[in-house]
Amino acid sequence: MKITVDQNKCIGCGRCSEICASTFRLNASGKSEVISTEKSDCAMQAADECPVEAIFVEE
Ligand code: SF4
Repeated sequence: MKITVDQNKCIGCGRCSEICASTFRLNASGKSEVISTEKSDCAMQAADECPVEAIFVEE
């Protein structure tokens, strides 16, 4: 599974790391970074709920 976050779009709201702490965390710049590309339902949910659609998930 390939998971990426567009750093230019991310506004650092923290929603993805709340929903799926095993996959996302906020980095020192306050942007989301991917810490695991393990397949997970919560990563898909985070992509759905990101307010600026910065998360891309490919099977
Ligand atoms: S939910 Fe979207 S905008 Fe918010 S921190 Fe995650 S990637 Fe960034």
